[in-house]
This record gives sequence, C-alpha cells and structure tokens, in this order.
Amino acid sequence: MDSILDIGRHSQVVRVADRSLMVEVGSGTLLAADSQDPLQKKKKIVILGTGWGGISFLKTLDCKLFDVQIVSPRNYFVFTPLLPSVTVGTVEARSVTEPIRRIIRKKDAEFHEAECIKIDPENKQVICKDVSELDFERKPEFALDYDYLVIAVGATSNTFGTKGVDEYCHFLKDVEDAEKIREQVVDIFETASLPHLSPEVRRNLLSFVVVGGGPTGVEFSAELHDLVHEDLLCLYPHLKDNVTITLVQSGDHILNTFDKRISQFAEKKFQRDGVHVKIGCRVLEVTNKHIRFKSKDTGQLVDVPYGMIVWSTGIRTRPVITDFMKQIRQENRRVLATDEWLRVKNCEGVYALGDCASVEQRKIVEDIADLFKLADKDNDGYLSAAEFVSTMEGVRVRYPQIDLYMNHNHMKGVIGLLDEAMNAGDQGTTKLDLEHFSAAISKVDSLMKCMPATAQVAAQQGTYLARSFNHFAQGKPAEGPLHIREQGHHRFHPFCYKHLGSFAPLGGETAAAELPGDWVSIGRSTMWLWYSVYASEQVSWRTRALVMFDWTKRFIFGRDSSRM
Ligand code: FAD
Repeated sequence: MDSILDIGRHSQVVRVADRSLMVEVGSGTLLAADSQDPLQKKKKIVILGTGWGGISFLKTLDCKLFDVQIVSPRNYFVFTPLLPSVTVGTVEARSVTEPIRRIIRKKDAEFHEAECIKIDPENKQVICKDVSELDFERKPEFALDYDYLVIAVGATSNTFGTKGVDEYCHFLKDVEDAEKIREQVVDIFETASLPHLSPEVRRNLLSFVVVGGGPTGVEFSAELHDLVHEDLLCLYPHLKDNVTITLVQSGDHILNTFDKRISQFAEKKFQRDGVHVKIGCRVLEVTNKHIRFKSKDTGQLVDVPYGMIVWSTGIRTRPVITDFMKQIRQENRRVLATDEWLRVKNCEGVYALGDCASVEQRKIVEDIADLFKLADKDNDGYLSAAEFVSTMEGVRVRYPQIDLYMNHNHMKGVIGLLDEAMNAGDQGTTKLDLEHFSAAISKVDSLMKCMPATAQVAAQQGTYLARSFNHFAQGKPAEGPLHIREQGHHRFHPFCYKHLGSFAPLGGETAAAELPGDWVSIGRSTMWLWYSVYASEQVSWRTRALVMFDWTKRFIFGRDSSRM
C-alpha cells in the first residue's frame, strides 16, 4: 500500500501498489473502488439464488462496477405470494415467473443454471453442478472463484422428521409444487366421479388435508375452498356432499403471528365456510391411507383418511448451507448467522440474506443494555420512570429501526417485556430494576433474532446490500444516518427492516391485513387492497399484465378445470 486518501469521516480510499483504488469497509475489509481506473481488475461477485433476496440484490447492484455471476438451479424468479393462487388456477404458473435472462438483459452479469453443491471459503470458491437432464458427455461440476459471495439460496420445507411426509404429502414452495397440486385436485374430482367407487372410497378421496395454520396453509385452504365451491361443484354437482377440507394446526390458533383479531376472524370464517380447523393437534405420521394426529389437550389420536395432503409447516436449512455452517463453526445454529451488516460470521467476504440467514442483533442489544446502565447515575440498580423514558428516546434516535420493529408482532412482545421489567422493580414508584431489565433484554435479544422469513425481509436485505456494494465501489461514504461505534469498526448504517404490513387472503373475496402503525383491516375492501399491492409489486410489466389478465379471466369465466 503506498498511500491513504481520506474521503470523508466514514471511509478511506486506499491506493495499493497495483494502482487500483480500494475502499476500506468494516473491520479492514477492502472492496474494489473507482471504476475510472482502467488498470483496475473488477472484483468478482458470485450470487447464489434467483429468489427474492438474490434478485433484489441483482436489480439494485451496479453490475458495471463488478464481475457478476449468478448461480441457480432455476432460470426464473417466482413471485411466491401468488403460488397458492397457482394451485387452483386463479393465476397461471407462467404469469408469476420472470426469466432471469430477461432481468439481466441490460445488465453486465452472467447466469449459470446450476446448483451450488459446496462452498469453499478457504479457497474462495463455489463448486456448482449442472442441473440439466440432457444426456451428453460432459463433466457435470465446475468451480467459480469469488471475492465476494452473496448467499440467497432460501430454504426447504421442514417436515420435523415426521414419518411418511416426504412420501405422501405435497409441499408448496415452488411453481412445480403448485402445478402438481393443481393437477391432482382435478384428478381427484375426475376419479371420484367414476361409477364403480364405493361411497366410502369416494369420500376418502375427496378429503383434503392441509397441515400448517400459518399464512401459506390458510391461504391455500381458502383458495381450495373457493375453487371447490365456486367452480368444481358446478361441474361435479354429484360430489357435493362428499368434499371435506381439514386444516391441522399445532398451535392454539391459526395465523398466530398475526393480530389476534385477524386469527379470530379467520377461525370464525372457516367455521362458517365448513373448513374443519383442528387446532392444538400435532401430526404423528402419514401413511398411504390416512394422516394421524394427536390432540395436545385430550391426548386423543385421530386418523383422517385423505385424497391429498398439503404440508406447509415452516422451513429448514438446505444441505449446502448445513455443510457450510459446519466449516465455519456455526453448526449449532438453525440458520446461517450474520451480523447487522449481513456479513456471515466467522467468514471473510461472504454475505447471506433471506430465508437461509438470520441477522443477529446482539451488538445492538448489548449497546442498548449499556445505555440503560449508564442512565443509572446513582448506581443503585434502579431507573426512575423519567430516566427510563428519556433513555428509551435516546435508543430510538440511535437505532431508528427499533421503532419499526415495534410495529411488528415480535416487538410488541419486547414492549411487554420492558413493561414487565418496570413493574418488577418497584411497583409503587414505577422504577426499573436493572437486574430484571437485563433478563428482559436477553429475551429481547432472542426476539430480535426472529426476523420473519418473508419475501419482504429478503427483498429489503438484497436492496440494502447492493446499495452498500455500489457505495463502496464508487468510493462514496454510505448514505443516510451512520452508526458509529466508539470502539467498533462499523462505519455504515446496519440493515434496518421496515415492516410494511402483511396480508392474509381468506377466500370469498375477503382478506385481512395487518398494516404499519397497528392497523388491522378485514373485509372485501382489503381484498382489493391485496389485488393492487400484489399487482404493483410484480417484478416486470409483463408479469403485471399477465397476472391482471388472469384475475379478469377468472372473474368472467371462472377457473379452468382441465387436467393437462
Ligand atoms: P427464495 O425466494 O426461496 O429463493 C431461493 C433461490 O435459491 C431460488 O432461486 C432457488 O432456486 C435457489 N437455490 C436453491 N438451492 C440452491 C443452490 N444449491 N445453489 C444455488 N441456488 C440455489 N413472503 C411474504 O413476504 N409475503 C407473502 O405473501 C409470502 N407468501 C408466500 C407463499 C408461499 C407459497 C411461499 C412458499 C412463501 C411465501 N412467502 C411470502 C415467503 C417468501 O417467499 C420467502 O421468504 C422468500 O422467497 C425468501 O427469499 P429468498 O431469496 O431467501 O429465497
């Protein structure tokens, strides 16, 4: 290194011996800078995954500044929130997908349709395997070098090791899953219409079971109910009394991450519609004939015969990530841990976002705890209510994302914990006992780790990371308020999730929404809001037009029940 040039309070441009400019970022990491230097070699970025995280990163990244390569086994992006609609033909599969090659058409980036099978952080390489089924002589594996690796491979469905799930259940993670479900529903109705079936076999065949009362399971049940009652029963009126839909949920309520009013409304609506909701029931096994579950309250075992089961109970890390976590001493964690700047812990130059990663807010939480301790001027272990409030204000100024989290369900819990700590101290004088506060803050820590695995989080993380890369590469200091730690090295604002609200379509042109600021909206007008938000969120004008066309077609002609 021959010289150091200060470009502002927060970053340094460093001229190294080969005359390229680098920007010092974080704890001594160097990123390529100054695209005007003709001798400078571009830094290689490899992006794994073309889902919400990978695509939002790619769309925001200035690809001229880097040598960008994208690896994914599927050469398209899927708008996952509309997958339940694909299962029943409300929208077509190709309307919710956008080819990657269209997205990178005007970008300086290369795409490889392959699966990453190994990450080698020592040699800064990823080993990929071609996924084509074409039968010709070739070596299926190849390696790609990287300077920076962005991991956005998402996650797979979690079966919790339940016997028979992999063999007999459908999952709902990708377009192929949705198409398989659509085909089987129609197959079941045609088969159940054959004349030689006994009434019992017919009833069993028309028994649909959905496992998982989260947003996906609930939305799928609602879509299935609409398909059956709005379209199929008009075409198969003889099957009217044979169809059942059962929704099995292990928790005490369906949609339990939503506001209580929404989950209560959903349960009542399903009851009116005739969808059997079994709450507090854990599935023990699935055989080729029935699904067995146990009621947590009564301990009773129930066997339900089925024609189709859709399993939607959460997510699990992919094998390539589990292997990588072992290499970087993170094997005890559920998902890849990153810091607030999305850097994978114990691994230089690797970033992770979306469902495969979890942001640890430990530093922020420790810092908040320190602020509260500092506020205890007389050092008696107690804060007065006024001191508590003024410290909380300080925390909010320093960490604006706290306020945003507070709108989210998890953070409602945080407020509750802080309230508890206040009361635990001295109820008469509403003083805060710091010991209880420390216990509360450690619970806050684990709550803050639970950023939801949603498209919203993945997309915001992708945009944040790409903007940071663009700034580093252009040699600009980061935009916006900067987070400066006295002893730490982070000069850039950490990732800050902004919760924009969540929807739960409940069938019959009714939806519920939880909007920022604790607003809850339920009804037909919310469904129209859902239509407009999801139309505007499409990744291209092409998919936007296709989705709107499919909705219109469905309104006029109903859903198509042909089996292709
Ligand atoms: P994904 O979008 O899953 O993308 C992962 C990418 O990695 C894919 O392109 C995949 O092909 C690729 N990949 C996989 N393995 C490898 C490998 N070995 N090498 C390279 N690439 C690989 N969220 C919301 O916010 N709102 C909703 O309404 C909503 N509805 C949903 C409905 C359904 C049915 C589902 C399944 C999910 C829904 N979600 C919703 C959640 C949301 O889709 C996920 O949180 C989001 O997709 C996560 O983004 P990601 O980039 O981490 O992963």
